[in-house]
Amino acid sequence: MKIGILKEPDFEQRVALLPLHIKKLLASGNELLVEHDAGEKAFSFDKDYEDAGAQMVSRQELFKKAGILLGIHLPSEKELDSLEENQILIGVVDPLASLEKVKYLKEKGVTAFSLDIIPRISRAQDKDILSSMATVAGYRAVLEAAMLLPRFFPMFMTAAGTIRPAKVLILGAGVAGLQAIATARRLGARVEAFDVRSEVKEQVESLGAKFVELEGAQEDNSAGGYAVDQSEEYKQKQRQLVQEHAMESHVVITTAQIPGKKAPILITKETVEKMLPGAVIIDLAASTGGNCELTKAGETYSFNHVYIVGQSAYPSSMPIDASSMYGNNLLSFLNLMINDQGELNLDFEDEIIKQSCIAHQHEVYSERIKSLIENT
Ligand code: NAD
Repeated sequence: MKIGILKEPDFEQRVALLPLHIKKLLASGNELLVEHDAGEKAFSFDKDYEDAGAQMVSRQELFKKAGILLGIHLPSEKELDSLEENQILIGVVDPLASLEKVKYLKEKGVTAFSLDIIPRISRAQDKDILSSMATVAGYRAVLEAAMLLPRFFPMFMTAAGTIRPAKVLILGAGVAGLQAIATARRLGARVEAFDVRSEVKEQVESLGAKFVELEGAQEDNSAGGYAVDQSEEYKQKQRQLVQEHAMESHVVITTAQIPGKKAPILITKETVEKMLPGAVIIDLAASTGGNCELTKAGETYSFNHVYIVGQSAYPSSMPIDASSMYGNNLLSFLNLMINDQGELNLDFEDEIIKQSCIAHQHEVYSERIKSLIENT
């Protein structure tokens, strides 16, 4: 197969595959085409790709020659227009929030896979870009909070007095939340965490944090490990409980999301008004509406002496490791569709292939996306 690696838009520092990933694909007989400067912001330069055995090409050439195009963000509509029906595009389309893009790809007749909707089954763990990028985000969020906080994270006993450790509250103990707990603990903070899924209590405690409990949450075992929407009564109780804990915290990191829905509001304006001066809120759910009522997506600002950080793009700020993880996930995904001789074998009987396919021969294969389209 001729596999092409796209240069990402200016705001993105990651790249879909690094030179280290390329060697593995070349070994199974594929040809690698890489757009000029694709890896520059991830500190992988054209020469590194060439040394690994890839050919550097222009963007136009890439679209013309590559059988499979690999990226993170979707190319422009004009570029999508230039794709032939036998070309395959693999990236992160966020189809739950962008059904229009799915319909467009379907009408075009291209084949497109979105890595963010790979089913969360055990066999798919090494292909799960949501988990790997959430790991980066959870880690980076804590570091950003530590830099903004006008006090130490760890406890210090010095001749100049004793410094009490910072108190960190994590809302949502999924992949990002657990990583945030681990990172905040390593920096010496006292950590509390809250989640609607009671199964995470043990994981939270095993990382040395305290689990804040609130009974009455709705849980659904068929939701694939995800949370489901809660009743209005529960949400009220939850906001009250969060307020009590947030008022005593120096840092609050929120990661609570429900796939395909707006993020739940856990921190109200009233809660922020009652928080400690100098406290920091990092809202990792900013791109889906935010867990804090006052979050502004992509912005950091101060309200009533509390920093509110609305960042969701942390993976881009750690492009070397984030690209390495993304590339490993992508390689593992490609293994499902390219055999050892470098030949394409699209097997729609395979759940991972089928459920991540948002367009192929004018059809949407992902059942989740298909039913969303039918119901809108
Ligand atoms: P996510 O990003 O959708 O949500 C983050 C966390 O927010 C979740 O733990 C969720 O329970 C929590 N949350 C949602 N609403 C909340 C609310 N109102 N209050 C408090 N917390 C709330 O989820 P994620 O981190 O990507 O994954 C969640 C879980 O999925 C994992 O912990 C794991 O069990 C499962 N998972 C499975 C696989 C796999 O098997 N391949 C891979 C990754 C994750």
